[in-house]
Amino acid sequence: MLRDEFDFIDAVRQRALKERGGGLLTGIGDDAAIFRNRADRDIVITADLLVEDIDFRRAYTPPCLLGHKALAVSLSDIAAMGARPRFCLLSIGIPREVWRTKFLDHFYEGFFALADAHDVTLIGGDTSRTPERIIVDSIVIGEARRNRSVLRSGARAGDAIYVTGALGGAAAGLRLLEGGARIARTPKRTRTKLNTPQSLMLRQLAPEPRTTWGEFLGSASLASAMIDISDGLSSDLAHLCRASSVGAKIDAARIPIDLFVEESKITKDEAFKLALHGGEDYELLFTVRPRRIRQLPYEIGGVPVTRIGEITSEAGSIEIVQESRARILKPTGFTHFGRPK
Ligand code: ADP
Ligand code: MG
Repeated sequence: MLRDEFDFIDAVRQRALKERGGGLLTGIGDDAAIFRNRADRDIVITADLLVEDIDFRRAYTPPCLLGHKALAVSLSDIAAMGARPRFCLLSIGIPREVWRTKFLDHFYEGFFALADAHDVTLIGGDTSRTPERIIVDSIVIGEARRNRSVLRSGARAGDAIYVTGALGGAAAGLRLLEGGARIARTPKRTRTKLNTPQSLMLRQLAPEPRTTWGEFLGSASLASAMIDISDGLSSDLAHLCRASSVGAKIDAARIPIDLFVEESKITKDEAFKLALHGGEDYELLFTVRPRRIRQLPYEIGGVPVTRIGEITSEAGSIEIVQESRARILKPTGFTHFGRPK
């Protein structure tokens, strides 16, 4: 049983010591961590905040999957920069009654499982108490070869638009959870035997960040622009287009819909909407110059990419072509504070 946060930090430190990333001089235990970066690398840093009842609900989120997701969302941001994740800092605020449970043991179990899988070393964080709700902040530090990071702003007219994996699963899973469905037991890595609802809920609760794709696209300079799909395809494509001062035309028939969504009771029309606007799939959306397209692999580690459209010169205009009719695609994905009317 943990007595105070110093015991806790020490336990976390012992676990974090198992992994020691190259370049790390001082990890957890001092006032700050120190790592030495290579001269031929750029440092890429990202932070993500998960607030209980806003970004997750305790009722349907197993603690170990919350630990996984806290790291996964930041790994996805690093992947979207075309960089490789190296170090992370994890800060957590929890109410006293949660401190007394096994919550943190399970949380860190999920967190370290994903960190180990991606060779990421925990080098610090902060621990505090909150009055009622859990709050988790994760920071990930990655590295990219000099000037190889991929920005949102690099897309040009004529570039092809691609997406990794498939879309809509996480939003469909959230629906099931909000409707009262639950993850049966803490699921292990193997997802093969899971039924459709369980798989969809896992897409929501335990997203797999596309780090291998991201690092490959960056180091090979294949992506001209990239973003991860956290708010939804329609919104994140709009973000990429705005940053690049371009427009886009996408083909509705080519949008890859999650197989489990297609297998579920959701209608075809709804499934399409979830793929287009539902968030939290954490797939990568990226653009490729026409002459580089043939260098792009069809898949990496079982994760395919699909070409869904093309960048146009009409800044701000995002069109979707469905049954040979084009219409304007409005971003309708997730926002915390709504959209201006
Ligand atoms: P300070 O008051 O100087 O912030 P702390 O006692 O909070 O000191 O932290 C001591 C060390 O423990 C630091 O290296 C810090 O990064 C690390 N640490 C604190 N909380 C966590 C946590 N939840 N996960 C990982 N490292 C942590
Ligand atoms: Mg502190």
